[in-house]
Amino acid sequence: MRLCYDIVVIGAGHAGCEAASAAARLGSRTLLITIDMEKIASMSCNPAVGGVAKGQIVREIDALGGKMGRITDMSTIQFRMLNRSKGAAMWSPRAQCDKAEFSRLWRRELENTPNLYLWQDSVTEILVDGEGEKVRVRGVKTRMGVEIECSRVVLTAGTFLDGMMHCGDAQTEGGRAGDQASHGITAQLRSLGFESGRMKTGTPARLDARTINFDALEMQEGDSQPCKFSYDTDTEVVKHQLPCFMVYTSKRVHDILRTGFERSPLFNGTISGIGPRYCPSIEDKLRTFADKEQHQLFLEPEGRNTNEYYLNGFSSSLPYEVQLEALHNIVGFEDVHVYRPGYAIEYDYFPPTQLSHTLETKLVEGLYFAGQVNGTTGYEEAAAQGLMAGINAHRSLRGEEGIVLKRDEAYIGVLIDDLVTKGVDEPYRMFTSRAEYRILLRQDNADVRLTPLGHEIGLVSEPKYENLLKKNRAVESLISMLRKSAVKIGEIDNYLISIGEEPLSQGKKLYDIVLRSNVTINSLKNEFPKLKSFIESNNLSDEVVEQAEIQIKYRGYIEREKYYAEKMHRLEEIAIPVNFDYNALQSLTIEARQKLSRIRPETIGQASRIPGVSPADINVLLIKFGR
Ligand SMILES: Cc1cc2nc3c(=O)[nH]c(=O)nc-3n(C[C@H](O)[C@H](O)[C@H](O)COP(=O)(O)OP(=O)(O)OC[C@H]3O[C@@H](n4cnc5c(N)ncnc54)[C@H](O)[C@@H]3O)c2cc1C
Repeated sequence: MRLCYDIVVIGAGHAGCEAASAAARLGSRTLLITIDMEKIASMSCNPAVGGVAKGQIVREIDALGGKMGRITDMSTIQFRMLNRSKGAAMWSPRAQCDKAEFSRLWRRELENTPNLYLWQDSVTEILVDGEGEKVRVRGVKTRMGVEIECSRVVLTAGTFLDGMMHCGDAQTEGGRAGDQASHGITAQLRSLGFESGRMKTGTPARLDARTINFDALEMQEGDSQPCKFSYDTDTEVVKHQLPCFMVYTSKRVHDILRTGFERSPLFNGTISGIGPRYCPSIEDKLRTFADKEQHQLFLEPEGRNTNEYYLNGFSSSLPYEVQLEALHNIVGFEDVHVYRPGYAIEYDYFPPTQLSHTLETKLVEGLYFAGQVNGTTGYEEAAAQGLMAGINAHRSLRGEEGIVLKRDEAYIGVLIDDLVTKGVDEPYRMFTSRAEYRILLRQDNADVRLTPLGHEIGLVSEPKYENLLKKNRAVESLISMLRKSAVKIGEIDNYLISIGEEPLSQGKKLYDIVLRSNVTINSLKNEFPKLKSFIESNNLSDEVVEQAEIQIKYRGYIEREKYYAEKMHRLEEIAIPVNFDYNALQSLTIEARQKLSRIRPETIGQASRIPGVSPADINVLLIKFGR
């Protein structure tokens, strides 16, 4: 019997779930194959979604029609808006999630998506037709020997490819604790000409709440007014939030950890893969900050119906008995019972410069890569790539142009452009500093930036799109009212003085008063009844008021970034032929010729971001192809 689908997605992790969900909702008959259906969208490490720059990505996924934001909202147990005290570009939503609920909700979502089918098995081979430069996907083969035909494959195998786990001297094959590794795919893709590398990551111990002395710990509550990730969530997100806690290591704890260094696979050469610089293990931190006598750790609940706690900041692959002894010397953990010790994992990845911006591989037509297999780290980065790969696999089947987000449109655009243009030399995670237009890429305006596109391609529902249009109109009406309404001299002096602002020396428009740094529309409305009644009679939500305020206060910065982005677009419009022979252009430096031949940028804009290609090289390309 022939098993035939349009698209096969390999792996139901964060990338695979978004890819399969998007492709199926757009209309492709999609099969999602995964090793264990009980572990769909499993949080291998931290039970949390979002954080600095990552929270912005989740808002973008949601604005485009992806599902991670909504599922996060439905499983949130604690919410915090990080960086609230900084400028709006830095505000970053983060939710602690009920890990089991997150996974259960994703499975329910997938099982109820038309056109989407699930199959529990492990893919061992990607079937291809043709040879040389004309290789294209024709299906996949699984460990059970089943052959499935399809014309597009999205590979999202995460940390599973030839995965090897380490805890002290103990080495175990696996894709994650409790999961088998995935063999066959790396070797096969290498035989087709793909390059692969090895990376590593690690996770901390999980602890039993019944054995923790919480009275000795510092509590960390969530925000008193929790926000949400999804523009579809209109109800209260979380009624009862669970607290997190802060704990601290000490000199004694560090001394104990150091006794295990000789048996540390990180330090004795057993692990060769490169680890994430920004999620270092506790042993890495002791080496890097040798003088520091204390490290702060966060104790985070894994869910509402479990005693399991995650010890953020204590990731380790030291022998389990060393981890245990060190834990018992932390205040509050004197009698702690460990459910699972920390461990490190090494796995294969494929340098992402082998992909085009649609996430299709350059070597095999119809084959897409997304998530950790591209050298990234993090659920959010994976989900974003999965969404784009799913959209683009579907569109290429229909003969439609791929969707490529620009760097000034979305963090997702920055992420994918960085991956395919610069490659990775360590696990890549997103930071706000990676984006040159971060005032434009705020978490609050993800819908304005991306929902029209999501609607146009068919992923965003009509009501969600209508809501955006309604919100835009409401924001404009409020800004217009503020522009028109005048305040007389002396009218709000007491208010201005009370918030540390100078009184008015002449009459002003309300708009100009909102520009002042200590003024908020919400406080101003209490002084200015006309504004209050405008907001109330038009039923303007807090979201609308906040949006108007951000647009007013940041207008100058926003205009400036738009101007620079426009200038960059002109370079993005100058295409370079795919097979251009850079070696024939002798005026390029040798390094530029090598890098350009390897990456094969699609435009001069992309060429300008390749490390090693100088402004002088770009001028040479401009003379050749441009104006
Ligand atoms: C021990 C550990 C520690 C981590 N620590 C951190 C951290 O500190 N910070 C951080 O940001 N991220 C961390 N991560 C990474 C995080 O889990 C990933 O970034 C994220 O899960 C990647 O999503 P993904 O969809 O690419 O892959 P995954 O979530 O790994 O999902 C891959 C899926 O593919 C399936 N699969 C694999 N091979 C096959 C096959 N051949 N056939 C069928 N199905 C297959 C698997 O069963 C799984 O469901 C850690 C991961 C692990 C395992």
